[in-house]
Amino acid sequence: MKLHCPKCCYDLTGLSENRCPECGEAFDPGALMREQSIRRPRWWAVLIAVLICAYAPFVFWIPFQHQDVWLWLWPIMPGFYFGFLLHPREPLEFIVMGAATLIILGGATYLASRRWWALAVVLVLLTFWTALMSWGGYGVSRM
Ligand SMILES: [Zn+2]
Repeated sequence: MKLHCPKCCYDLTGLSENRCPECGEAFDPGALMREQSIRRPRWWAVLIAVLICAYAPFVFWIPFQHQDVWLWLWPIMPGFYFGFLLHPREPLEFIVMGAATLIILGGATYLASRRWWALAVVLVLLTFWTALMSWGGYGVSRM
């Protein structure tokens, strides 16, 4: 199998010295081999799965929405509960919702792309989280 420098991605296959000729980074071939043989989900596929789990539960709102405001809030809805803590201080609550959404999506994508089992755990938790919010937000919209 091919080995690549963890720092500069230079192909290290077949070198006699344990040092990258490109950037000078020392490496341990055994450790590098173990690290690079772990099969991980591709980050872009993980991102697509994360986005579906983060946004799909809100589809349920479309036929039920009473105020137009809920549709434009969709992109930041994964951070709904964090923004709702500040309710009704607009626009601060929307800024917090947006920031929380970015952290949730970024964190979920990062964790889920480490291992296959992490991907499964993250997707289940994320779907549960957003389904809860979809349901909770629906209740709020009825108030
Ligand atoms: Zn290198």
